[in-house]
Amino acid sequence: MSHVFPRHCHSKLPTAVGGEGCYLIDSNGKRYLDGSGGAAVSCLGHGNPAVTAAVAEQMQAVAFAHTGFFTSEPAEMLADYLIARAPGTLDRVYFVSGGSEAVEAAIKLARQYCLERGEPERRNVIARRQSYHGNTIGALAAGGNAWRREPFLPILPEMNHIDPCYAYRYQRDGETEEAYGQRAAQALEEEILRLGPESVMAFIAEPVVGATLGAVTAAAGYFTAVREICDRYGVLLILDEVMCGMGRTGHLFACDADGVAPDILCIAKGLGAGYQPIGAMLCSKQIFDAIADGSGFFQHGHTYVGHPTATAAGLAVVQEIESRDLIAQVRQRGHVLRSALEEAFGQHPNVGDIRGRGLFLGLELVADRQSKEPLDPAMKVAAQVKAAAFEAGLICYPMPGTVDGRKGDHILLAPPFIIEEAQVGELVEKLDTAMRAVLPG
Ligand code: PMP
Repeated sequence: MSHVFPRHCHSKLPTAVGGEGCYLIDSNGKRYLDGSGGAAVSCLGHGNPAVTAAVAEQMQAVAFAHTGFFTSEPAEMLADYLIARAPGTLDRVYFVSGGSEAVEAAIKLARQYCLERGEPERRNVIARRQSYHGNTIGALAAGGNAWRREPFLPILPEMNHIDPCYAYRYQRDGETEEAYGQRAAQALEEEILRLGPESVMAFIAEPVVGATLGAVTAAAGYFTAVREICDRYGVLLILDEVMCGMGRTGHLFACDADGVAPDILCIAKGLGAGYQPIGAMLCSKQIFDAIADGSGFFQHGHTYVGHPTATAAGLAVVQEIESRDLIAQVRQRGHVLRSALEEAFGQHPNVGDIRGRGLFLGLELVADRQSKEPLDPAMKVAAQVKAAAFEAGLICYPMPGTVDGRKGDHILLAPPFIIEEAQVGELVEKLDTAMRAVLPG
């Protein structure tokens, strides 16, 4: 009997014993093509020798030194690397252990900034309904994923939610993409005005929605309009790139594609590529200076902030991405994967939408393509596709997201950046096998 507490208490999971490139191997020798990098984590695949060596080397030198006493070379170098490439005035990096911690730090930093500026009345956070920002209490409160929040609603701090920019469902017939983007952004201004601008602290959004909708990009102009609205009312823009950042969309930072710079940026997952648990919060010079010149102390912290071994992994990951020109490869393989998905499922009666950017692609599964009617949530179709794909030797990520408050079915694909074209073919073939088993059409 296993004493590990699994997510699904009765599930019997195979034991992962090895990883080679895009494949994971279980104790029976079965190989699984990692079509989602776990949950968009393993961007370099498994068994990367350079990252493994960098981690081992750092552990031998000094595995851990608390940031209350020391900084470390990899933390300094990784922060320099990120800031040299980060958009706008992002100037400082706060390293944490994962995505939820990055979001918690962002929310608390935003609040402290408002206090340092003498605006204590700013306390409202606006987020978007179909979004996921993590599972800790604050991050869960910010997220809008109804089913994840539901059991905990009585203990979540109150936050405010507007519709995301989700063209497949919300763009009207005859409305251009640009007009829809403006209308979707308008919802933010309306919410700021409803709450009272002087009470609003921050707006948080994922540039490409991941864990709730499966790779939904924003309409052209949406984030530019959002940035203008935030500036108009002194509201901080927090972008959560925990899933879509670090090259996944074919840009180092997903917001580069939208031409917008946030005040605070959260990254994780691909930053450590699974070799170490690491996340980061990047903040603008203006925010850092306000705190440095004010109380001089960010009132936050965790034991493993700036962990030397985790940052050594992150540094080796970004060096691999750069030296092997993997972001260009993400774009090219992303096109190949998208075309293959369109060919395989473009006419499938239960595939309503194929979307995303780079190697961050999603399928929205529906009962009817024409009406876009979601599938019956009781059927748990995305979970069934996941199980059938796993049986066939493919890892894909099911999204029990929400569509207008109801559960919807989405499949997320986020394979390693190193995926070969032949493996793209294998991925789509195996997904097709799974889809035929669950949704024969
Ligand atoms: N934000 C986003 C956009 C995410 O996708 C996730 C994880 N799926 C998180 C935050 C939380 O990250 P973690 O699970 O590392 O705490």
